[in-house]
Amino acid sequence: MEKSKVRVRFAPSPTGALHIGGVRTALYNYLFARQHGGELIFRIEDTDSARFVPGAEEYIIESFRWLGIQFDEGVSFGGSHGPYRQSERRHIYRQYVDQLLKEDKAYIAFDTPQELEAKRSEVPNFQYDASTRFQMRNSLTMAPDEVERLIAQGEQYVVRFKIEAGEQVCVHDMIRGEVVVNTSVLDDKVLFKSADQLPTYHLANIVDDHLMEVTHVIRGEEWLPSAPLHVLLYRALGWEDTMPQFAHLPLLLKPDGKGKLSKRDGDRLGFPVFPLEWHDPKTGDVSRGYREDGYLPEAVINFLALLGWNPGTEQEILSLGELVELFDITKCSRAGAKFDYVKGQWFNHEYILRKPDAELTPAFQQILQQNGIHVPDERAQAVVGMMKGRVNFVHELWPLCKFFFVAPEVYDEKTVKKRWKEYSAQQMAELMEVVRTIDDFSIESQEQEVHRWIEAHEYKMGDIMNAWRLTLVGEGKGPGMFDITAFLGKDETLSRMERAIKVLG
Ligand code: GLU
Repeated sequence: MEKSKVRVRFAPSPTGALHIGGVRTALYNYLFARQHGGELIFRIEDTDSARFVPGAEEYIIESFRWLGIQFDEGVSFGGSHGPYRQSERRHIYRQYVDQLLKEDKAYIAFDTPQELEAKRSEVPNFQYDASTRFQMRNSLTMAPDEVERLIAQGEQYVVRFKIEAGEQVCVHDMIRGEVVVNTSVLDDKVLFKSADQLPTYHLANIVDDHLMEVTHVIRGEEWLPSAPLHVLLYRALGWEDTMPQFAHLPLLLKPDGKGKLSKRDGDRLGFPVFPLEWHDPKTGDVSRGYREDGYLPEAVINFLALLGWNPGTEQEILSLGELVELFDITKCSRAGAKFDYVKGQWFNHEYILRKPDAELTPAFQQILQQNGIHVPDERAQAVVGMMKGRVNFVHELWPLCKFFFVAPEVYDEKTVKKRWKEYSAQQMAELMEVVRTIDDFSIESQEQEVHRWIEAHEYKMGDIMNAWRLTLVGEGKGPGMFDITAFLGKDETLSRMERAIKVLG
């Protein structure tokens, strides 16, 4: 048989912001599709209208646009297997429900929520399955004409999958190997509800994976318990030959490794768990996002790619292209991956270092403007170049770099005490004279002239440089002295020195 083209899907339910774990799932699907020359589908699983949240779908699409994860087909991308929103596919599912009913692989059940509740309180650990279904109100226990009569009367019903007990189901998982489950632990899952004429997640998921010719189902570990049911459904529908291969990805764990990562961990420790800022339309709450927090999308991708997988070498900085090449789904870990958000910050630092200064400049310009500083791009870019090695985020540049644009008004007390000697004012006044005579104000030429003057007077290099820095910066930080003076220019350098001499005396 010809090997079919790899087709994978990311199939979120639009119930709110996309969790960072979902982003990782989509990324692994993307890497897998690309490395096999396959296709990645974006499907919206919105059959549960009670949990639908307006704006969630758009949010998810915008998140992937920002991250640079491209889909080949799906909602907003088009394709020949649509529609890709399950709510627009309701006409498709009914025939498969009917098929299962006709073949006696499913049955109609009329038990009301109250009846089920009563049963649950009467029988401990009640499960609707092969051992109990004959005590319930369904088409297996009622006469056919009675069933028809109730349906005609408009009585609400569900269609349940008839799972036979005592059978071993084997799920072949690319990460976990063979996962074997006995069907006796499974319940007769609801596949369809007459109330809204919609299939449940399980049926819609399988029908769509089949019709969309999905070859590999790569998803979070939380779906592993559903996998045996999905295997049985594939079989019951006669699609065993095209059953996809499964891969259930490890959970993302809290930074301390104890339990599943939640939004509360992010709030408590100060990191986002959503790719973009999210405005909850119901509560009005605003949750921070990686984009708005100043992460570069490449850094987020690199960070997430290594949560649950690594290339088996020491290499940590991996471009999307390298990830496509090296990723190996079978080498994913089975154990949960600790969400080390500090490592995420480190990745951002590394990506800022590697990014051309010009590409970081617009973000820095925005911050400058927010602080009332209006300078040409070259000026902003020069500061980015000098200082980006010291930060994890572009917005951290402002407190470090303010002095480039605004002369110090106060002088840090500790630094003054330590660096401003009784002879400093005199030396700075002399240095001002030297600076005045320097025509070529480049770093090299200034350095030469100032050093010559220091040597000629046998001054101490440290005395001069520390006091000088204090006059220009207001404290003891900053890049090389001549980087600062070259940036400020002669006039600004002189005026800052003059003021400091006056104030510090
Ligand atoms: N709609 C499910 C979700 O929200 C999809 C699970 C799957 O990939 O099968 O994650």
